[in-house]
Amino acid sequence: MGRAFRSRKENKAVNRRQWLKVAGAAGAFTLRPIGRLLAASGAPPASDHKPSVQVDLKRLMLRHTWTTTMSSNAYRDTVNVRYTYDAITGFGEGAPIIRYSEFPDQAKLAIDAIRDKIAAGDPWQFDAFLAGIRKLLGEHEHAAMAAVDIAVMDWIGKALNIPLYKYFGLDAADAPITTFSIGIDTPEITKQKTAEAAAYPVLKVKVGLNTDEETIAAVRSVTKKPLRVDANEGWTDKEEAIRKINWLETQGVEFIEQPMPAHMFEEIKYVRGKVHLPIIADEACTSAAMIPQLKNAYDGINVKLDKAGGITEAYRWIKMARALDLKVMLGCMVSSSCSVTAAAHLSPLVDYADLDGNLLIANDPFAGVTVEKGKLILPQGPGLGLRVLG
Ligand code: MG
Repeated sequence: MGRAFRSRKENKAVNRRQWLKVAGAAGAFTLRPIGRLLAASGAPPASDHKPSVQVDLKRLMLRHTWTTTMSSNAYRDTVNVRYTYDAITGFGEGAPIIRYSEFPDQAKLAIDAIRDKIAAGDPWQFDAFLAGIRKLLGEHEHAAMAAVDIAVMDWIGKALNIPLYKYFGLDAADAPITTFSIGIDTPEITKQKTAEAAAYPVLKVKVGLNTDEETIAAVRSVTKKPLRVDANEGWTDKEEAIRKINWLETQGVEFIEQPMPAHMFEEIKYVRGKVHLPIIADEACTSAAMIPQLKNAYDGINVKLDKAGGITEAYRWIKMARALDLKVMLGCMVSSSCSVTAAAHLSPLVDYADLDGNLLIANDPFAGVTVEKGKLILPQGPGLGLRVLG
């Protein structure tokens, strides 16, 4: 049979031999499965693997009822994405934030509606690919966007066979300690929760109701460790905010997160001039574009994947905050180890981590980042480095 009449199968075999030769010369590629190698090199895949996108809701049961100024819950639902392309599956999760009128069922519907478009995209061009998905999901589905973005970035890390923090050029040893959060509760339960958090060197305490002094007193009756305090927009009077922040300073508190409602920008600016503790914007920081303006009233921002819409946008927020000389905190919602591990891969970039959302739940479907004496320990597997537990 002449060369002109070589069958498609033979052509494919020849192509594969040529690519193997190139891969052998490259050395570093030889450990990679050939299907991934060919896809990574732009060559035809060894076999047809149809891309797929699976979307599910997962009910995460809380160990303690979780109360902040905004709500009280025994469970939280998150939207989960499994993105498969060229036989590699990336996992993603988003925890819709009610404060921004985002809801789990709505997030699932939004992703379901564009599943075909996600499956048709090229993950190697993830910058344009994810920007396109962001446009399709619109302005009100940040957690849905986070679920897709995390799944695609998990895929990228797995396809490159490196943990995600390496993709961003980071050293896992630089991961900070994480706080453990104490939700608002009765003094007795607050004492119990504080005692249970003995392994964590720094605690984050939720305040913002009319029980703030009792809450801090309950924590302080159990431990002397440093505290960070989140008022979740709870104080609406600027003089009350000043009084409470100055009192908190005497209680060994390091900083205060979102003391007043996000829209009370001028009031927060005034308060900041009257207190010593740094003030961090959480609810007030919802896009990269607003970070320069926030510098006039805050000392730093709390970056969350569910607010930013995933790892790639959170990275942009962090870089923008750094350019403006703002402090950076990395936070999370109540979610599984999927989303929390995704954030943890960026944690070597930040000053403060509050990545405990997975520690608050009883039925984590994944294992990923762990905590040793408060320090975040990043998994070494490719991508997010998750193990699926069920
Ligand atoms: Mg907060």
